[in-house]
Amino acid sequence: MKEIVKESEKIVIKIGTSTITSDDGTIDRTFMDNLAQQVKMLKDQGKRIIIVSSGARIAGVSTIGKWSRKEDINYKQALCAIGQVELMDSYRRIFSQYGIHVAQILLTKEDFESENRTLNIRNTLFTLLDEGVIPIINENDTVCVEEIKIGDNDVLAARTTALWGGDLLILLSDIEGVYDKNPQSNDDAILIERVLDPYELENNISIGEKGSFGTGGIATKIKAAQIVNKYGASLIVAKGKEEDIIIKLGEGKAKGTLFQTNIS
Ligand code: ADP
Repeated sequence: MKEIVKESEKIVIKIGTSTITSDDGTIDRTFMDNLAQQVKMLKDQGKRIIIVSSGARIAGVSTIGKWSRKEDINYKQALCAIGQVELMDSYRRIFSQYGIHVAQILLTKEDFESENRTLNIRNTLFTLLDEGVIPIINENDTVCVEEIKIGDNDVLAARTTALWGGDLLILLSDIEGVYDKNPQSNDDAILIERVLDPYELENNISIGEKGSFGTGGIATKIKAAQIVNKYGASLIVAKGKEEDIIIKLGEGKAKGTLFQTNIS
């Protein structure tokens, strides 16, 4: 695992809702500060980083303090529109303390299906990264009802990795990795540290409920691995709240699940 992190030059880091949120439902600024610090270190090592960040809806709930229980799709979209500003404001403030500029990119599934759009996305990403700016990507919830229901940023991050030609996708979650069964409800669950075939894995483990703030669960993480492995990129699932997690993964000092691509 540590070699993969060390050797990867183009890394996408996806932040799950449970990682970006504190227990009280607000944005976890301690986590974000530590993330900025790690991104700075990785940048200084010559790596290029893209962030895919969840958390707009939960940030919307904590900002406006109402509608949280309204299940109507338009309210959910409105909360995302409010929270996205809050989320990016936090990223901008915190990353600027490390001398890093950030840029917002909102995407939908359809954007990946049009040749013209993918070309434009790729050009924008390359330009931002050439200039040392960190792109922060999220779903454009205002225009995609379906996405809001599946909350599938794991797959969005995988598609971004493939489109950009990334080497590695790191999914930061509230869990150390993928287990043979849900560790929240099974004390004897075993962490799977290396996966060579994500299709086979799907049939061999039991997938339980996702976390309380979480959206995609483990199934979308395996789907993300299937996408990136096919394009020659590897994927790691690791615990986002552990301090310096990405740096530790590169030093072999933290655990996670590595889905290693067999295409080089
Ligand atoms: P995120 O918001 O980071 O995307 P999710 O809450 O959607 O995270 O998914 C992670 C959760 O999936 C874990 O906290 C765990 O409760 C649940 N889960 C279910 N089955 C498994 C499994 N086999 N291995 C690991 N986690 C599992």
